[in-house]
Amino acid sequence: MRRFEPYLLLFILYFVVGRIGLTIAPMWGLATLLWLPSGVALAALVIGGWRLWPAVFAAAFALYATAGAGFFPALFLGVGNTIEALVGTYILSHIVGLHYNLRHVRDNLGLVAVSLVTPIVSTSIATATLVLSGDLPPHTVIEFALVWWIASATGIIIATPFVVKWLKGPKFDRTPAQYAELAVALLAVFLISLFIFWTPTNQLAYYLCIPLTWVALRTGPRGITLALVMASALATIGTLQGNGPYGLTGLFALSVYLYTICALFLTFTSTVEERKEAQKELAKHVDELEQALSKISSEDEAKKNFLAILAHELRNPLAAMLSSVELLRLQKAGSEETPALVHTIGEHVHAMRSMLDDVLDISRISRNKLTLRKEVVALDLIVDRCVHSTESIFRNRRHKLLVHKSPHPLFIEADPIRIEQILVNLLNNAAKYTDPGGRIELSFSRDKGTIAVHVKDNGIGISKSMQKRIFEPFFQIQRGKLATEGLGVGLPLTRQLVDMHKGTIEVKSQGEGRGSEFIVTLPLAAKNQRPAIKPISSAKNKTLRAVKNTRSILVVDDNEAAALAISRLLTLRGHSVRTVYTGTAAVEEARRQPPDILILDIGLPDIDGYEVTHQLLLDPLFPSAIIALTGFGQTEDKEKAINAGFHYHLTKPVGLQELEKTFKKVEHIYAST
Ligand code: ADP
Repeated sequence: MRRFEPYLLLFILYFVVGRIGLTIAPMWGLATLLWLPSGVALAALVIGGWRLWPAVFAAAFALYATAGAGFFPALFLGVGNTIEALVGTYILSHIVGLHYNLRHVRDNLGLVAVSLVTPIVSTSIATATLVLSGDLPPHTVIEFALVWWIASATGIIIATPFVVKWLKGPKFDRTPAQYAELAVALLAVFLISLFIFWTPTNQLAYYLCIPLTWVALRTGPRGITLALVMASALATIGTLQGNGPYGLTGLFALSVYLYTICALFLTFTSTVEERKEAQKELAKHVDELEQALSKISSEDEAKKNFLAILAHELRNPLAAMLSSVELLRLQKAGSEETPALVHTIGEHVHAMRSMLDDVLDISRISRNKLTLRKEVVALDLIVDRCVHSTESIFRNRRHKLLVHKSPHPLFIEADPIRIEQILVNLLNNAAKYTDPGGRIELSFSRDKGTIAVHVKDNGIGISKSMQKRIFEPFFQIQRGKLATEGLGVGLPLTRQLVDMHKGTIEVKSQGEGRGSEFIVTLPLAAKNQRPAIKPISSAKNKTLRAVKNTRSILVVDDNEAAALAISRLLTLRGHSVRTVYTGTAAVEEARRQPPDILILDIGLPDIDGYEVTHQLLLDPLFPSAIIALTGFGQTEDKEKAINAGFHYHLTKPVGLQELEKTFKKVEHIYAST
């Protein structure tokens, strides 16, 4: 719009609406039943700004001048109407802070107040002007003032909300059903208005409240402003034609009536809207609270699970250690098996320590208590240490580890212990999550100012959806019945350590069964300096000799060290022991040659202990006693085992004495077969 256009538009609108007002129900030539220009002027100034006032003044002046007022009376009447609009605009914009959507009670009460108060200005000026100019007989002053005031007030309360809402309110967006309801409700307003104001019979004007209540409750401010304009128009025209409850003699009463229903229904609608909004707000808060609660309870659940898993994971190495200690006790001093047993104990102490270290580190990081001791270090040396410290797990799982070292020495400014921890974690995971005999590659790639370390395996892989989640604390992928080792803290800890080094970590995998690659990128050091890191020597392993046996036992445990330790122990006690590491192997072996006693771990990599028992007991004559030996020692775990058909449930770690006591307890089972 060009600059003058709003002025012109307002001038024309004001003039035309005023002209119609003056022609339809003139009183004393200049006052009228319904003064819509007041409402138009106020809406225009509220929306377009107070600077539009000259258009209001010019239009009002022209209107009164052409309606028979003299120059000065027309001038003063124009001034009065302009001041009324300016005062109203000030109150609505600066005191009420009107929202154009008119959904708040405050906005509508503000409109009601303005419609009652500001016409007092124009009424006073108009009355004084016309009395002074001699156009108004003194005995009609009060009546004139009342008509002028109520006509302006009604004009404001009908026109201003309608114009503001329909021109400036937010976009009208309803469903087809809502449009249909609005149309039907408006039709009801229309028909009842016709019934009240267009039939000669004297009907009750307040019948109109029925459809208006519907509109107010269901269609909001937009519907009600339209309905009120429509109802007012029909009521005015019908009354001027001499119909309806007021008739030509009751024009003043009609004005009061129109004012009342408009003020009432605007306020009512906004009350309904505020209530709806408050309900929505409440529902939102309830929703947020519920989400927060479920987050808290899922975190709580994760912590509880974590504790159960921690206890389980600590029991495994403890079991192996206990068995080894018992073996040591049974041996003569200086026996040639001693170093191997000591080595087993050492390895498990190491495993337990690193597990506890991880947990403590996570807790330190979350309390901001972990500090890095940074120095400039050669990456190669750290890599050598990592390879050393993971040697045994790679050997045990018969993996091939290929290290592609960088041809040039690479230096990083980092905490060497922590970098080693990062790489060892990744190498351990690669070894753990790759089937025996796998291939793991450690390589490096250099980019501007950074070095990327790649740990790539051809293991069980990670699905796309899980790739984001594996870095969450305590998260472990549930892979069917495959037992999960570890605590779910390795990767979150790794990521936090990488973050502390201002590096990044990412995972790549084509999906399950297709291997994984973890890439850690670290900033290269600016300076070159060689630190000294001593390589660690690995202990030697020796095999134990077998001893003559009496009772046949099949030990099933996927923790090879634990299985071996227990079988050595039992062998030394004179039993004939076989060992397998998976559920399927257990079923096969037990069927091929049923042992007297089957010692069965529950968490196995393929089918779990429950399933093994189930399959074996399909044969009602299966002769062996089955003992569950697991890290899960809660009462419900024991019950579950017994219900699944186990004859006994033992919790790791278990000593030789306890084992043999249990054998006695279950003796009758195999003795009777
Ligand atoms: P944990 O190994 O103790 O379960 P981590 O935080 O180290 O915990 O790993 C989280 C999960 O990410 C593991 O449960 C495992 O399923 C998956 N994961 C980690 N590394 C690998 C890998 N190299 N290949 C496949 N899955 C992996």
